[in-house]
Amino acid sequence: MAKIFITRPIPEAGSKMLRDKGYEVVVNEAARERAAAQEEMLAGIVGSDVLLSVLTDKITAEIMDAGLPTLKIIANYAVGFDNVDIEAAKQRGIMVTNTPGVLTDTVAEHTFALILAIAHRIAEADRFSRAGKYHAWGPELLLGSDVSGKTLGVLGLGRIGSRVAYHAAKGFGMKVLYYDPKQNPDFEKEYGAVYVANIDDLLPQCDFVSIHVPLLDSTRHLFNEERFKKMKPSAYLINTSRGPIIDEKALALSLSKGLIRGAAIDVFENEPDITPELKELDNIIMTPHIASATQETRDKMAELAATNIIEALEGRTPPNLVK
Ligand code: NAD
Repeated sequence: MAKIFITRPIPEAGSKMLRDKGYEVVVNEAARERAAAQEEMLAGIVGSDVLLSVLTDKITAEIMDAGLPTLKIIANYAVGFDNVDIEAAKQRGIMVTNTPGVLTDTVAEHTFALILAIAHRIAEADRFSRAGKYHAWGPELLLGSDVSGKTLGVLGLGRIGSRVAYHAAKGFGMKVLYYDPKQNPDFEKEYGAVYVANIDDLLPQCDFVSIHVPLLDSTRHLFNEERFKKMKPSAYLINTSRGPIIDEKALALSLSKGLIRGAAIDVFENEPDITPELKELDNIIMTPHIASATQETRDKMAELAATNIIEALEGRTPPNLVK
């Protein structure tokens, strides 16, 4: 009987599928409210055929070796897989799968929630109201910025980036510019989107910039002080991708110096830590890596991770094998 070690509790929808197949499912219940400890993973993986990991787990060669010779599959409960050493898995003949697609709409919705919230100063206005500062309606009270008709720059026109671009073009009449190594003429035709062949030419043209690239060596600190200087002082930066894509200290400095008007981010450079200076600023909205956190989507992610495991254990190619 195959043994599956799950590093942190996931929605029952997924673990039930695995138990119904007769597999032995071991869940590291201790890590419900915190990340799994290295020792818990090293112990749990021994004798397991499958490791079901989440993005707070750093799946290193050392962890993989502790699972050999039985470990065959690492099923990551996320679309991003920067937490897994893919090269080490390849060298050991261990399959790695992810959960793309099922979270696209939810993350795109969260991205748009952040765009609207930062432009309309929603979080700041909420703090203002709770603090008893609302004494009279005012012609210049908490003035924000329109979203409709503005220019959105999308970095990474993949599944999530293109869905954000769709909402922008169809819902808010925004002009969409994008940069991605792969140009997409069909998308351009359908949404009036314009391809800009490099990020430095794109930034000065945008009122909002939304990041949807994966975390790679080439995208780490893609946003540094130089890049912030290229943006309009009236522009907003949104990040629902991965934290290390932004140099967080440079972001804090740029926001306080007024190089850009605001930012809204769901991800942080050193999660769960947040650069303290950011917490002092009013022109940033921060959410704790919850862009895919709806019950429906988390259930679907659990089911997809389970499907990947079942397909692989039954000798078929799992639908979301990471290349
Ligand atoms: P995807 O693979 O469909 O899209 C990524 C796109 O980025 C691709 O089109 C790729 O060509 C492009 N790209 C790669 N390098 C680039 C670069 N240097 N500059 C510009 N574009 C580049 O992935 P997706 O499903 O849209 O997810 C995107 C990312 O969002 C994931 O990698 C993940 O890190 C992140 N994510 C975050 C959350 C969250 O909870 N905040 C949830 C889901 C996904």
